[in-house]
Amino acid sequence: MSKQTVKVVGGGLAGCECALQLLKRGFDVDMYEMRPTRGTGAHSTDGLAELVCSNSLKSEEPSTASGVLKAELKLLGCELLQIAQTCRVPSGSALAVDRKRFSAAVEERLKQFEGFRLIREEVDKIERTPTVIATGPLTSDKMAAAISSLGGGSLYFYDAIAPIVSFDSIDMSKAYFGGRYGKGEEDYLNLPMQRAEYEEFFKALVEAETVVLHDFEKKELFEGCMPIEEMAKRGSDTIRFGPLKPVGLTNPKTGEKAYAVVQLRRENVAGDCFNMVGFQTNLTYAEQKRVFRMIPALHDAEFLRYGVMHRNTYINSPELLDGGFRVKDSEFALYFAGQISGVEGYVESVMSGLAAGQAMADELEGRQYVLPPETTICGALARYISTRSLDFQPMNANFGILPPIVGVRDKKSRKLAYGRRAVEDMKAYLASRARY
Ligand SMILES: Cc1cc2nc3c(=O)[nH]c(=O)nc-3n(C[C@H](O)[C@H](O)[C@H](O)COP(=O)(O)OP(=O)(O)OC[C@H]3O[C@@H](n4cnc5c(N)ncnc54)[C@H](O)[C@@H]3O)c2cc1C
Repeated sequence: MSKQTVKVVGGGLAGCECALQLLKRGFDVDMYEMRPTRGTGAHSTDGLAELVCSNSLKSEEPSTASGVLKAELKLLGCELLQIAQTCRVPSGSALAVDRKRFSAAVEERLKQFEGFRLIREEVDKIERTPTVIATGPLTSDKMAAAISSLGGGSLYFYDAIAPIVSFDSIDMSKAYFGGRYGKGEEDYLNLPMQRAEYEEFFKALVEAETVVLHDFEKKELFEGCMPIEEMAKRGSDTIRFGPLKPVGLTNPKTGEKAYAVVQLRRENVAGDCFNMVGFQTNLTYAEQKRVFRMIPALHDAEFLRYGVMHRNTYINSPELLDGGFRVKDSEFALYFAGQISGVEGYVESVMSGLAAGQAMADELEGRQYVLPPETTICGALARYISTRSLDFQPMNANFGILPPIVGVRDKKSRKLAYGRRAVEDMKAYLASRARY
């Protein structure tokens, strides 16, 4: 006998994973999906769990954060990753899928449960019934308005994100800390470039390949926040008078003034991740790696997160949500999952759907949901989206959000150590949950 019915709004990656977690635990699920009645501008089918762009769910390597996230999700009983394995196409160490087969297989799995109902309707209000909102980065306008009424501050509509670089991959012999004119704390990491270096970098930047934006994204994105490559195209000195302004900066190691200076700002308290200031970009990931590595101090840079620019509706989750993706002060069981909850990426969206489904099931069964440890990617992302920060922006899986491992100098060994610790801690967490 079914326990209760949960309304899942949105049949994307997060909504489908969430629904499967609830169905497996004996709940009924009414899933509302607005396609094909209303489109999003990016989806091209009416299938559930459609991958809107790349067909890659990224690496499975245990030395990568996305590989570790997959290992954790497997332990947690993730359904969509299991389905992805059955639809995989050759792609080296990445898990890439045949997107049509994947979407069809997810729908088929959902329909195996008698308690599953798919309702092809746009939802435009939030009713007092157990609900998971998983309407994604392209949430319909009416639903966005309903979500705004929950309070918790702004609903953000566009992402213009600059890349984040791992501190230990920066060549410090070519970089120095310091503020302009020696003012303030030494908050910035300065990466100087001489004229010839700048000119080579500039040429590569303006010629680099960019991601094709949808028409609905172009106008608003560029008005709100100019990508570095677009700014560069306005003239060879535009970015030298903007984010790469060298004025007031002298290299304390050499006494030299530079022709241009890229500035990096700490991304986290531990100081092991740095954000490239003013470098919001629409270059493809491969081009970001190639072009930004032409900055002398970044010749071996490891990018923990690449820059992105696209329409992205997301809530101010640190104000609104707890670590279990629940609306903190809601009088009924109301959860968010997927990209709208402040995670970034396909597998991250699946992860939040899984967490919201498991937390919702715990709540409806009168159990306290316990967050996975902070040393796991799942636990760290859940804490990231629910912890107050000055400038909250969506986050993908990366080792920079985990508590640091010190004393392992070799980079590859350290990454493997992060992965081993995460998987061990996830196993211990699951063993302790079995007692509930
Ligand atoms: C253009 C674009 C490209 C992207 N490319 C990548 C990529 O290559 N790799 C990557 O890792 N991530 C990518 N992302 C980011 C993100 O991983 C995906 O958007 C991912 O699909 C998010 O999963 P989700 O479940 O949160 O949302 P979605 O998969 O978008 O699912 C949300 C669903 O809700 C439905 N919906 C919306 N409003 C309503 C409503 N009011 N009522 C009923 N249904 C509604 C939508 O039709 C949709 O089916 C991209 C995002 C965008 C916008």
